[in-house]
Amino acid sequence: MDLDEIENMLRRLRLPRIRHVFREKLQAAAVEGVSLADLLGNLLEDELSSRDESQLRSRVRRAAFPFNKTLEQFDFRRHPELRRQAFQSYLDPSFVKEGHSLVLIGPPGVGKTHLAVAIGVQQALRGADVRFVRVQKLMARVLECPSTREREVILKPLRKCGLLVLDEFGYLLTDPETGPVLYDLVAERYERGATLITSNKSLQEWGKVLGDSSLASALIDRLMHHGQVYYLKGESYRLKDKKANDGEGMAS
Ligand code: ADP
Ligand code: MG
Repeated sequence: MDLDEIENMLRRLRLPRIRHVFREKLQAAAVEGVSLADLLGNLLEDELSSRDESQLRSRVRRAAFPFNKTLEQFDFRRHPELRRQAFQSYLDPSFVKEGHSLVLIGPPGVGKTHLAVAIGVQQALRGADVRFVRVQKLMARVLECPSTREREVILKPLRKCGLLVLDEFGYLLTDPETGPVLYDLVAERYERGATLITSNKSLQEWGKVLGDSSLASALIDRLMHHGQVYYLKGESYRLKDKKANDGEGMAS
């Protein structure tokens, strides 16, 4: 059969990986005397693994992480209050499957977002549907929506996803509508999906942030039922480099 015709059929069948490699593989198989079953099996395996890879890539892209970080890149020596082992366990698919929560609290620059991204990326690579949002930005988008239907377009995927990362919860939510929206999001996810929140405010201050202390208690109650809170301490990592540079400057 004409190879161009085969290529056409592979295009119609949407088998791009096989379409890309089949000519070369046919030639090699003829030279090496590979059986037809092995050749076919080989081509199909190639197509499947390339599909898996592109699915993973699109999962990570869809999650919308602000940057890419790993747990290996996190210097735990700066945080004697944190155990690497405990954080390693959040990379396990059971964190998402069992719908657990994790709250990271601390001042700016101590690595809250780094840890959240590291966990999120690994979970996405392990097959979870992960969404990363900054709370203020999300709330601004929600408030801009002219109708409930449009709000749903934004909120529904966040309600349904396997792991939701709510980054930077802590800046005062001045609009009275935002507290209930955030509460509903967490409550709907309760025992269905995992939620990871980073915040610069202690749990006691969340009432002020949400503008409603009983709403905050109900939200914390749900989060903490199958969840854990860590208080990160220390100086900003961003200032560490700045101080080192300033130090060099002074010495010279
Ligand atoms: P936060 O969210 O707590 O404000 P980030 O996670 O954004 O802080 O951290 C600020 C920068 O410092 C990032 O580039 C992050 O990778 C880096 N960083 C913070 N803490 C650590 C750490 N312990 N080890 C390695 N890098 C860190
Ligand atoms: Mg941050």
